[in-house]
Amino acid sequence: MLGKGSKLYSIARLKCPRCHEGDLFVNNSLLSWSKMSEMHPNCPVCQQVFEPEPGYYYGAMFVSYALTSGPTLAVVWLMMLFSDEITLWMFIGALLVSLLLFLPAIFKLSRAIWINIFIGYDPTAASSPQARGH
Ligand SMILES: [Zn+2]
Repeated sequence: MLGKGSKLYSIARLKCPRCHEGDLFVNNSLLSWSKMSEMHPNCPVCQQVFEPEPGYYYGAMFVSYALTSGPTLAVVWLMMLFSDEITLWMFIGALLVSLLLFLPAIFKLSRAIWINIFIGYDPTAASSPQARGH
């Protein structure tokens, strides 16, 4: 399931959605803050365009909301073990803590998921480079 050719592989390893070989990000580490938002304009392997149009990743914001809710609920659940009531401020605190911890991962994963919705795996892409888009 996590092998090359599945969307999960491309998303979890932040690889090009088309050839599953080139990196999506300049710094392809999920936990690193350095150059967090810098993507390669094209796939270094198959030349797939990673940002076909300006604002392409606007929709990835909604994916990141969904990804943020997981860690946030986990932190809220932890607080409920130690406290009888959860106030709004505690909830906001939980949100901030999980954002601080997971922001680079959430940012990169949501973009990887987003581009995978629109671009599918092409097993021949890595061997016969051909630019798409533009
Ligand atoms: Zn590629």
